[in-house]
Amino acid sequence: MPLIRNTLDCCICLLPADKEKEIGFERLFQEIQLSKTPPCGGYVRLRMETFEKPILYANHQGGYRVCCPNCSANVAREFSRAVEDWRKGGKRKMNCGACHSSFLLEEAIGKPPFAFSRAAIILSDVHHASLGEEWISRCDSLLKEYRIVYRRVG
Ligand SMILES: [Zn+2]
Repeated sequence: MPLIRNTLDCCICLLPADKEKEIGFERLFQEIQLSKTPPCGGYVRLRMETFEKPILYANHQGGYRVCCPNCSANVAREFSRAVEDWRKGGKRKMNCGACHSSFLLEEAIGKPPFAFSRAAIILSDVHHASLGEEWISRCDSLLKEYRIVYRRVG
């Protein structure tokens, strides 16, 4: 019987959430395509995706925590309820059940990190859960603001 395993995707998500893709983003994509020493020690597939509205990039397997940016309380339940509302057309906002502060969904602190983004470079089935130092500094110089999200798929 073949061994079934999860694969890991590395998503380089452009921030802030509503931003359109920028020139540096396309440059980065081309550099990854042409590189002989690719990020994450290698990958199986590479693509760039863009959306009219932000989508949530997150790891949905193996559990995650979401913390309030004001009081650090665990707001995972409020967060997933707010994400459901947002997907039905509601605002991208939520309230903390502990300190009652109100904040944008992207201000909540995900552990592991998540991102709301309209543009991402997806490296599918990566070898390592790290871009590597060289690629981190390339991202830093080409992109103004971004977040790396790893997600298990399969
Ligand atoms: Zn709070």
